[in-house]
Amino acid sequence: MSLLLLAGSLLVTAVCYLLGLPFFFLFLFVPLLPLFGRRPVRVKRCPTCGWETAGREDFCPWDGSRLTPADGQRDE
Ligand SMILES: [Zn+2]
Repeated sequence: MSLLLLAGSLLVTAVCYLLGLPFFFLFLFVPLLPLFGRRPVRVKRCPTCGWETAGREDFCPWDGSRLTPADGQRDE
């Protein structure tokens, strides 16, 4: 997800650069983009052991399983 965000921002930056627009200001907005997301805090849960986190972990630190959104939303 964050990789898509990064790729998207780089693409927009490249387009603005090609159009001759000042592109540096976009970098100022990049850290703000998560604030415009659906929810600032997304709890993720390990399907194997039930460990939950609201952090940025993508994999369970105990068994290495990929974490899934605890609210039932599919992220991919
Ligand atoms: Zn686990």
